[in-house]
Amino acid sequence: MMKYFRKKEKTNYTVIVGCGRLGASLANTLSDEGENVLIIDNNKDSFRKLSPSYGGLTLMGDATDIDMLHEAQVEKATTVVVVTNSDNTNIMVAQMTKAIFKKDHVIARLYDPEREFVYSELGINTISPAVLSVNEIRKLLSYKEEEAVI
Ligand code: AMP
Repeated sequence: MMKYFRKKEKTNYTVIVGCGRLGASLANTLSDEGENVLIIDNNKDSFRKLSPSYGGLTLMGDATDIDMLHEAQVEKATTVVVVTNSDNTNIMVAQMTKAIFKKDHVIARLYDPEREFVYSELGINTISPAVLSVNEIRKLLSYKEEEAVI
């Protein structure tokens, strides 16, 4: 008997700013999961990090340029993830996304965790590699301690 599988509806549209290691990896993952993705970078070589199976869109340009964000159709995005290598760029793009495009769901990478309060005051979710790493290392340390007790 033939089985019919309903294809996953592509309802989410995620705009990722910065096609570095993190941005490209996220874009590949979301695209493989069947999401609509568009990734922006101002360096065309960065798009080489996308996997051959990446089924989303790419847009080359400076994401601090409002025209780029219009071209990316940020107004239609479910989520905007801002992960360039500059905290200043990330905060600027995240702010523009919130203020101009009225997007609620904005996530930004922050290298300097001490600036987190600036983002939280603006209602922007942050990911800090340093904080995440500390938490993971602490978890591994506590496993070691548990092993030592047993
Ligand atoms: P990584 O440090 O590996 O996560 O890479 C960060 C990415 O952000 C690089 O591919 C940069 O080219 C990109 N990037 C930096 N500034 C901007 C910008 N203003 N607009 C778009 N992409 C940017």
